[in-house]
Amino acid sequence: MVGQDLQMLEGTVACVNAAVAELGIRDDMRDVIIEPWRELSVALPVRMDDGAVKVFHGYRSQHNATRGPFKGGIRFHPAADQAHTRALAMLMTFKSALVDIPFGGAKGGIQVDPRQLSERELITLTRRYTRGINHVIGVSRDIPAPDLGTNAQTMAWIMDEYSAIHGYTPGIVTGKPVELGGSEGRSESPGRGAAIVGRLAAQDMDNIGDSPTVIVQGYGQVGSSAARKFVEDGALVVAVSDVSGGIYNSSGLDIAGLDRFLAGGGAMAEFAGGERVSNSELLELQADVLVPAAIEGVITSENAGGIKAKLIVEGANQPTTVAADMILAERSVAVVPDILANAGGVVVSYFEWAQNIQRFKWELTRVNAELESIMTSGYRATYAYSQTHGVSLRSAAYNIAVDRLTKAIELRGFLK
Ligand code: NAD
Repeated sequence: MVGQDLQMLEGTVACVNAAVAELGIRDDMRDVIIEPWRELSVALPVRMDDGAVKVFHGYRSQHNATRGPFKGGIRFHPAADQAHTRALAMLMTFKSALVDIPFGGAKGGIQVDPRQLSERELITLTRRYTRGINHVIGVSRDIPAPDLGTNAQTMAWIMDEYSAIHGYTPGIVTGKPVELGGSEGRSESPGRGAAIVGRLAAQDMDNIGDSPTVIVQGYGQVGSSAARKFVEDGALVVAVSDVSGGIYNSSGLDIAGLDRFLAGGGAMAEFAGGERVSNSELLELQADVLVPAAIEGVITSENAGGIKAKLIVEGANQPTTVAADMILAERSVAVVPDILANAGGVVVSYFEWAQNIQRFKWELTRVNAELESIMTSGYRATYAYSQTHGVSLRSAAYNIAVDRLTKAIELRGFLK
């Protein structure tokens, strides 16, 4: 593997290495499960609105497809690069293995700030990228999805471009608009899943009552859906934030009122139902549960000692650094790891893919019921393993996922 000191890559590799050691897995097998199977880097020339041609850089990292086709999002972000993409691809392999859905792991990205492009430039860039990677993706090969900076509209353009080359193929991407074969409930699924496992974990802890208080950092797709589901299940959401800062009300925020206010064009800071807090203050507020659902690396060795929550539910990918994780463990703060907490997204992507293949549509109630069932099984298995073996939920999750992947590799005979 190319040497990278990227914190995300380190975090995932550290977790896999720990699982390899605990499970007594051979070194050659370790290399097989760490190394990405295939990586593609593409140059993407786009004629910009001012007439100049600009060359963007795109990536697709396909980590492992032993248990099913590669699966993972596409990120449009200025920091997207090969190493970042690789780290996120690896995370996806273990996420799918942990919740036992038939996918491997992949991730893609373009190094771009999509907010700086016009819609025409963005469509052209997305089509170029799709052409650039079309020969390595496919319904039984690799199925992209949205991630930071991309959305259902981006998936619709990818589906259109891929279909122009290969014929009508709705199952080439998930997270599409419902009108084009997207699944009901897909956009809320990672947040709902996080709230489902968060509630189960809170119930398993002696020091959290029936109506936990919850902080959500990052009121985007994941964070807002998590907040709504927590409230639906009887929790009190006391603080939420976006990139501009947060709001806090110790008696509980009116989440439905906040949603109406934001939908009407209001800025979070102007919402009357709470007092203003900064994002760093928000992480250290008094509450039972903290859900970091914004970006990676927000819980660090600097602030881990000040966190008052008893339970952290990682809505975002890798919000906790390796050093912070150790501090939290010493302080007996429980952490539901990202590969479990936000797996609801890939679970409902799996439902979408299955619906597309079968040319069949599920009702929202069925999607949510099946999501609840898979997330509950994933949590129960992880919790049981952590109790039996006396390890953290993160170690338990990686041990289960690594064991499942290793067994599949043995059975397919790759190392014979
Ligand atoms: P999003 O863009 O919809 O929301 C992100 C939110 O975080 C926004 O409210 C934004 O204002 C806020 N934010 C951004 N930078 C911040 C900062 N520095 N401090 C505080 N808040 C900040 O994104 P999303 O889809 O909700 O994804 C959030 C995280 O969850 C990412 O790590 C993503 O990889 C992960 N995730 C997303 C999905 C999915 O399907 N959307 C699935 C699994 C994991």
